[in-house]
Amino acid sequence: MGARRAGRGDDTMERGEAVIQRRAERCEYLQFERLAAVPGLVHAVFTRRGGYSSPPYQGLNLGGVVGDDRAMVRRNRELVIGALDGLPLLGTRTVHGEAVTVIERPASWEAPAAEWYEPLRQRLLQTQADAMIADQPGFALCWAFADCAPILLYDPIHRTFALVHAGWRGTAAAIAARAVAAMGERFGSRPRDLLAGVGPAIGACCYEMREGARLAFAGDTLAAACAHIEQRPGTDGTLHRYLDVAASNVAQLRAAGVPGANIETADYCTGCRTDLFYSHRIEPEPTGRFAVAIGRRE
Ligand SMILES: [Zn+2]
Repeated sequence: MGARRAGRGDDTMERGEAVIQRRAERCEYLQFERLAAVPGLVHAVFTRRGGYSSPPYQGLNLGGVVGDDRAMVRRNRELVIGALDGLPLLGTRTVHGEAVTVIERPASWEAPAAEWYEPLRQRLLQTQADAMIADQPGFALCWAFADCAPILLYDPIHRTFALVHAGWRGTAAAIAARAVAAMGERFGSRPRDLLAGVGPAIGACCYEMREGARLAFAGDTLAAACAHIEQRPGTDGTLHRYLDVAASNVAQLRAAGVPGANIETADYCTGCRTDLFYSHRIEPEPTGRFAVAIGRRE
């Protein structure tokens, strides 16, 4: 996982050692080195830079239900699609739950995207799931994030892939481990073959756990064993708990059988780097959501 950067010596992304920085029209995005090396695989963690949205959504906001001008979000979405080689975007409704869903084009999928895409997109917007798995080319799984960990998975043997949305609730429900298991059950993907990228998420520097979060972790053996929690004094002098969402998910992936050498991390705290990403917890509300996507070309 050596550092390698495209781009022009921009020094503002010094922390993401395992990611590559790229630019496209009016946007910029990070890629995980090992995923970027896979032929036919398309993936990106977009920063908020570029785009058309105005403050407080400034930049490339993909969040459609945060109050931003819908026309601006649509234009931002077109920029994302453009950077993803034109792949249409698909995503369920995220609810911080534990459901994993298979994303499939309909049987008539060889028809032009205009015929199958919009009905499928609308149906998925009614489907509640926080992990999506797929084995078909021709679309990209995409969600918009602000503090929750985006987790990308790819199996180079079966060419299957997944996108996981893991906030504290999803992490406490072991959603990443559930996605790995679902890829095995549905597609035969073995954990030891998976490549994983864990994107920007809120860190223990910024995220204090409440009692509800502590109890939720206590309710899941795997999630509890994998939780990365720091304790340090708060402003009242007592010990408070702070959760590292990305590190907890890395531990979960390893516990699920993904080799540590196959897991890359972006190593950005969204709360510390609101210049690059959006943070639901640290920025004044409302704010935007940054896009993360993975898919296969035809
Ligand atoms: Zn932070």
